[in-house]
Amino acid sequence: MKKFILAIAIFLGIAACKTNPFTGKSTLNFYPNSQVFPMAFAQYDQFLNENNVVTGTSEAEMIKRVGQRIASASERWLNANGHPGYLKDYKWEYNLVKDETVNAWCMPGGKIVFYTGILPITQTETGVAVVMGHEVAHALADHGAQRMSAGMLQQIGAVAGNVAIQDPQKRNTFNQAYGLGSTLGVMLPFSRSHETEADRIGLQIMAIAGYNPDEAANLWRRMKAKAGGQAPPEFLSTHPSNDTRINNLTAWAPAAKQEAAKFGVTSFK
Ligand SMILES: [Zn+2]
Repeated sequence: MKKFILAIAIFLGIAACKTNPFTGKSTLNFYPNSQVFPMAFAQYDQFLNENNVVTGTSEAEMIKRVGQRIASASERWLNANGHPGYLKDYKWEYNLVKDETVNAWCMPGGKIVFYTGILPITQTETGVAVVMGHEVAHALADHGAQRMSAGMLQQIGAVAGNVAIQDPQKRNTFNQAYGLGSTLGVMLPFSRSHETEADRIGLQIMAIAGYNPDEAANLWRRMKAKAGGQAPPEFLSTHPSNDTRINNLTAWAPAAKQEAAKFGVTSFK
């Protein structure tokens, strides 16, 4: 029986490896957008209904403006690199929610939330772009679907080869992968490698969108100061140490500017 399960897992693994244009890596992903996005969209709407969405303020407008610029930069990059249509199922949405939690997230398919609690740290529109680029990068690199796939492999083990995953099971896997069973509706932290990937991709996208990538390291310096000696804010509860992250972002900023230059962007705000 064990061999049988292993054979199925290997078969699914081969069948489900997709190369992501942003990372160039072939990763395990059983979940096509057509399955993940409808669940994400429903969860997002429910989250907005149950939380205090800020509308009509200059801050709420800024979140939307930055989101649109980042989304448009992603699209330009994909078109230029031979992946037109990659975003066709995305339904971008950018909302500010009144909540003192220091956090922001992006669900699959481009559904973004910023909490007002992160604004004292982002400080400027460029600071918002750092966070927006990072969150959008998680979505573009399919990090959530990869985590769901890892969870599904465990389930296959648990149900002894029953690969006909039913809808309720699929929903459970989704909820677990996104931490949506919790009252906060906050996504679980990503792995260290996914965080590092999102930092690198996000930096390039923000630069193409015309935001100064040098500001990324500064944002993380402010985040580090905010963390102080106490428990870190949710947003940095994951593994790359702040110093590693700051060093990486500083080292990658020149490459991000070069990438932006390919799109005719040579001055940054
Ligand atoms: Zn992240």
